[in-house]
Amino acid sequence: MMFDASEIHVVPGLQLERPYHSIAQAIDAYYSRYREISLDLFANPELGRQEFYAVRTLAAELERLGFQVETGYCGMPTAFRADPPVINRGPKVALLPEYDALPEVGHACGHNLIAASCLAAAVGVLAVAPELKGSFTLIGAPDEETAAGKAELLERGGYPDIDYALSVHPGTENATRRQYRAASSFLVIFNGKTAHAAATPERGINALDALVDFYQAFRELRDAQPQAVSLNAVIREGGLKTNIIPDRCVAEVNIRTPDQAGTDIVTARIHELAEQAAARLGARVEYQPLQPKYREMKTDIPLVETYEANLVRLGVGYDISLKERTGSTDVANLSHEFPTIHPWMRIVAEGNPENISGHHRCFAEASASEFGHRQMLLAAKAMAFTVYDLLK
Ligand SMILES: [Zn+2]
Repeated sequence: MMFDASEIHVVPGLQLERPYHSIAQAIDAYYSRYREISLDLFANPELGRQEFYAVRTLAAELERLGFQVETGYCGMPTAFRADPPVINRGPKVALLPEYDALPEVGHACGHNLIAASCLAAAVGVLAVAPELKGSFTLIGAPDEETAAGKAELLERGGYPDIDYALSVHPGTENATRRQYRAASSFLVIFNGKTAHAAATPERGINALDALVDFYQAFRELRDAQPQAVSLNAVIREGGLKTNIIPDRCVAEVNIRTPDQAGTDIVTARIHELAEQAAARLGARVEYQPLQPKYREMKTDIPLVETYEANLVRLGVGYDISLKERTGSTDVANLSHEFPTIHPWMRIVAEGNPENISGHHRCFAEASASEFGHRQMLLAAKAMAFTVYDLLK
């Protein structure tokens, strides 16, 4: 079922059946606390791996709600796990709070709302917990933005007992199945040989020349890619002084492709280009990976259908189209391990006249807005209903 993407409405006289009604009531009653915590995180933005205030705040609230909280989970200082007071046997669903912010623009990706909506969803599920044939947990991972915190937590064995996972990302539209792309970044390091640039340039090997040759070839490759592939590079180091032939120059490359296999193919081609450029000038080239790789999102269809049915239950419209040019998320790494979804909920007001996107200052404003909070409360309800459906 699909509604107009821009349309959000509460069906007049909307009546929820009993379990859903109890969940929604508990979440509504939690609204002011949810908003307070979200705005508190918003006012205290922290970069990835430094989210100590956020983790303290979320852990204190979860403990107040009766959860057993473990911070420093799996040896990651700003990861945590929170298990509810009563754990029923059966499948286990993970909610995935995020709480890292960006430099300069703070919570311009709205992770304050991801964290708070997971809390609100947890409050809703607690209201029906005795009826569940299974359990749920919150697993908070650091640094979604730059170093795929969930990928590292996964490698450290942070999701050993999880059967399903979900969280909702604030967005510019209600879209449930966006295809997040695989992404990886690495450094291309050219090593040459220093020499006096004016007196004995012939004794040097100019690493900057090699890098620039590489960049030109890279640019041709970039421009020949289809829409679904994004290649970007910046020069990190380009030499020190004009009177020294540079012996070390460094480019940073980022690749996004529809899937991991595509990333591997493009990476191999970029390595070839770098090696050809180096060889022409007698330089050497090496590579340094910058972050765990973000994998492509594998949205679980039965799970997303359950979530969508709950949006319908709440009278919320949504769009199921995929789109080719999308960002990446570390939630995608989990989606290869167990059924996972990571839909968007629109938090920018009607029409999005300024074409706002995530990481934009205006998106930060939306992440603190009353509208954004109302919308993500709907997402919290849809998540809690979905957990109930999975475990009833
Ligand atoms: Zn984000």
